[in-house]
Amino acid sequence: MRKQIAAANWKMNCTFQQGEKLLDEILGAEIPLADHQLTIFAVPFPYLLMTRSEVEEEWNYNVAAQNCHHKKSGAYTGEVSAEMLHSMNIRYCVVGHSERREYNQETNAMLADKVNLCFENFITPIFCCGEPLNIREAGTQNDFVSAQLKESLFHLGADKIKTIIIAYEPIWAIGTGKTATTEQAQEIHQYLRSVLAAQYGDVVANEIPILYGGSVKANNAKELFSCPDVDGGLVGGASLVAAEFIEIIKALK
Ligand code: PEP
Repeated sequence: MRKQIAAANWKMNCTFQQGEKLLDEILGAEIPLADHQLTIFAVPFPYLLMTRSEVEEEWNYNVAAQNCHHKKSGAYTGEVSAEMLHSMNIRYCVVGHSERREYNQETNAMLADKVNLCFENFITPIFCCGEPLNIREAGTQNDFVSAQLKESLFHLGADKIKTIIIAYEPIWAIGTGKTATTEQAQEIHQYLRSVLAAQYGDVVANEIPILYGGSVKANNAKELFSCPDVDGGLVGGASLVAAEFIEIIKALK
């Protein structure tokens, strides 16, 4: 079975102590994960090692960075490279979150470089795509998201892309309390998989987890994750509340 993933995106939230407490509460729930299930905490850079050691003993719980730089190394004050993450044994990294695309002007071409650097450093990218409201209202969301995949990922060989994680996050649903309906989510996830299949074939496309992100909560996770092409969620706000995120993990197929 394809991997089913609950990924927490803490963004720029929680003090170190609050983060430790949140992890303790979630891990303390001792939710057993099956081989095909995975929980990932995407935490701020200064918390990576603490989180890594919290999850070290836990089966299928892992840690991710929220970003890495698109250059290998050099005079980029304040930035963090994929190589640095690798040297800290960090194996996942969120790439192309819509907040970074918007506030840091990250382009599809820059994200292609980030994805390459992740793979060079044995890091699995959690690649985010998704359309803004005006594109959804114009009904051109399929073209928009397929261009994001093509421009940032389609230079990859099948051996690499089959190990990636994709997160579809409609921007109009992120942090707004507005969630895509299950029909909207399934429709676009199925479309994304068909775009992957057209380029790489069905076998590869069927291996790639496609997570849904956008106001996933304890009370809608089960329904969203029950869609055949929705393989879990990338969760912002609700991942900061232990009781919410525990239920979201439990909702994994
Ligand atoms: C996100 O940060 O990727 C996200 C989907 O946020 P929220 O769950 O708060 O909408």
